[in-house]
Amino acid sequence: RKGTVIITGASSGLGLATAKALAETGEWHVIMACRNFLKAEKAAKSVGITKENYSVMHLDLASLESVRQFADTFRRSGRPLDALVCNAAVYLPTAKEPTYTAEGFELSVGTNHLGHFLLARLLLDDLKQSDYPYKRLIIVGSITGNTNTLAGNVPPKANLGDLRGLAGGLNGIQSSAMIDGGDFDGAKAYKDSKVCNMLTMQEFHRRYNEETGITFASLYPGCIATTGLFREHIPLFRLLFPPFQKYITKGYVSEEEAGGRLAQVN
Ligand code: NDP
Repeated sequence: RKGTVIITGASSGLGLATAKALAETGEWHVIMACRNFLKAEKAAKSVGITKENYSVMHLDLASLESVRQFADTFRRSGRPLDALVCNAAVYLPTAKEPTYTAEGFELSVGTNHLGHFLLARLLLDDLKQSDYPYKRLIIVGSITGNTNTLAGNVPPKANLGDLRGLAGGLNGIQSSAMIDGGDFDGAKAYKDSKVCNMLTMQEFHRRYNEETGITFASLYPGCIATTGLFREHIPLFRLLFPPFQKYITKGYVSEEEAGGRLAQVN
């Protein structure tokens, strides 16, 4: 039988490229888990994914209620779950003030980490029940959250501190909007969220790999300097970043190549 894979944030960039690459193998039915239904449908059409190889299901990771609803809707579809790719993310490097999810958590950590954490937790049983030979849960990480890399040492560096902001609810009222309890910094919040993503996979591996046979991993796709991730950045950055990555750091990869890489680990 065909495998079923859920990809979050498959309406653009890496998620869309991965959806296309997996659908084209003919071995996967791709569930595009997206917050904007129409955008996702149009995106699938624009890259030529054929109708029988995908479905779009609504998922807004910035609302834990929506995550729960998504898991219910997926279960009601009656499909088995063979792979889950947590790809969606927001990056708000120029934000001066924090913004918040439906439940009042700072938006980058709320979306990238908390939303995916709940999704992964809820769908773990479904993955466990799959009879597919290679069951996988992959989260897209980033070297920017990793201080043993060059990019990870560009300030502000990721740092979760003693987690006091997270413990306090990340709501900017009783607690800081930042995990370490410090002042809000959008670029740092993104890096912190990616550290959480990577730690989540390490911990899932430790707790559940042996018992479930599921492979848990995080993957850095390379610098895909052209995606919508940088949409909130200043125009000069958006102009110079792709050539900088292409010719100076040589870390640049195209959306297509990065999508192929992510598809390969499935
Ligand atoms: P894009 O901005 O193109 O894609 C992000 C996707 O996430 C979009 O489909 C977006 O939906 C979706 N999304 C955002 N918020 C939510 C939400 N609340 N609920 C559901 N979906 C949401 O960026 P990329 O393709 O570059 O990013 C994909 C992944 O790759 C991210 O995890 C990012 O951290 C990671 N990454 C990217 C790198 C790069 O160089 N680009 C480098 C390292 C890692 P919508 O279309 O509706 O906006």
